[in-house]
Amino acid sequence: MLTVDLEKCIGCGECEDACSFGAIEVKEDKAVVDLDKCTMCGTCVDTCPEGALELAKQESEASGINPDEWRGVWVTAEYRFGHTAPVTFELLGKGRELANDLSVPLTAVLIGSGVRQHAQELVERGADRVLVVDHPELEQFRDDVFARIVSGLARREKPEIILAGATAMGRSYIPQVATMLETGLTADCTELEVRKEDRSLLQTRPAFGGNLLATIVCPNHRPQMSTVRPHVLKALEPDASRQGEIVEITPTDEELSSRLKIVESVMEKAEGPGLADSDIVVAAGRGMESEKNMALIHELAELLEAGVGASRAVTDAEWLPHRTQIGQTGVTVSPKLYMGFGISGAIQHVVGIQGADMIVAVNKDPEAPIFDLATYGIVGDVKTILPLLIKKIKKERGV
Ligand SMILES: Cc1cc2nc3c(=O)[nH]c(=O)nc-3n(C[C@H](O)[C@H](O)[C@H](O)COP(=O)(O)OP(=O)(O)OC[C@H]3O[C@@H](n4cnc5c(N)ncnc54)[C@H](O)[C@@H]3O)c2cc1C
Repeated sequence: MLTVDLEKCIGCGECEDACSFGAIEVKEDKAVVDLDKCTMCGTCVDTCPEGALELAKQESEASGINPDEWRGVWVTAEYRFGHTAPVTFELLGKGRELANDLSVPLTAVLIGSGVRQHAQELVERGADRVLVVDHPELEQFRDDVFARIVSGLARREKPEIILAGATAMGRSYIPQVATMLETGLTADCTELEVRKEDRSLLQTRPAFGGNLLATIVCPNHRPQMSTVRPHVLKALEPDASRQGEIVEITPTDEELSSRLKIVESVMEKAEGPGLADSDIVVAAGRGMESEKNMALIHELAELLEAGVGASRAVTDAEWLPHRTQIGQTGVTVSPKLYMGFGISGAIQHVVGIQGADMIVAVNKDPEAPIFDLATYGIVGDVKTILPLLIKKIKKERGV
């Protein structure tokens, strides 16, 4: 519940202006809250210059959670097809930073069959401790089993933060973990940091169709849970001298029981270099004007051994397949070099390229938003610039 400290309230009306729900009115120089309208979003609390409004403490009591009992940062590791997924190392890099800020240990949770030998790798990438759940029954990923194991461990150990990859695997079981723990989950975060005063995890992600970036907090429940897409965060370099504790956990029969039976797993065959893993990405936008002009994109990509990407305008027009779409509803890339041709720089596209080290944009409109982000911008027609670029590279290479 939102409460007003009448001693502190000076009736300035900042909270009334800030409330989007018309739940606060200043009457006789004091803020009065209409609890039927209040959604407990907390905007007024942040706005009040006198600190007269309070929310979290009351709510925590209502939810029965004492946040002070929950300590530590966890990363759920992803181990599939014989190796640890790179997103795990990226999450450990960010987890290390968050754990340092909160002065708590960073724990990785590693689940699978024959995974014990990979625990040290997680220590080298930043974990202080690895909880290993290694069992032959865990050879195949089954979301109900993994969710029961992680939620059981979290209930016993009470971490304040759990991070997971927004991968096919993470997306299928992490929401179940959040439900089992009766806490919130912010999916597809693009930035994470902690507010040290109240140990809140500030979880930033695109919202309202990508038109704005929202920072979400989970003040009244624990753990605070987020998923992050691959290639958004930076992994730490492995450090073989790092020391950590490896704790073996035996899953119970109940945890291992499942309603799922995996009949067969089939690996999809990738064509050409994987877009998400390419060092160079050459991306086409609507400004390429026609499917025929895609030949220029393919030619440049081939010369640079680059992955081919696209904006949604291009994949919607079927000039390139849907798997090449970069952005909010496509792939996230973090290449050394991203080159965008005829791409305007809509936020939904840009969230997918923010991890690129260098961005080169070609657009005939000098006001195109992509230029706000670009390291180098070329104002010109793609049909002129691309052939010139290809010719120059060929000449340099003597092709
Ligand atoms: C919920 C939602 C999710 C979305 N998800 C994604 C997503 O994941 N990825 C994504 O890309 N989009 C996404 N979109 C769509 C996004 O909003 C934009 O519409 C899209 O990115 C625009 O693509 P574009 O830049 O190629 O096209 P436009 O915005 O049409 O831009 C074309 C650009 O090309 C330039 N141009 C035109 N002709 C030439 C020329 N001859 N030479 C040089 N420049 C030229 C123009 O100046 C212009 O800047 C999403 C939208 C919504 C609502």
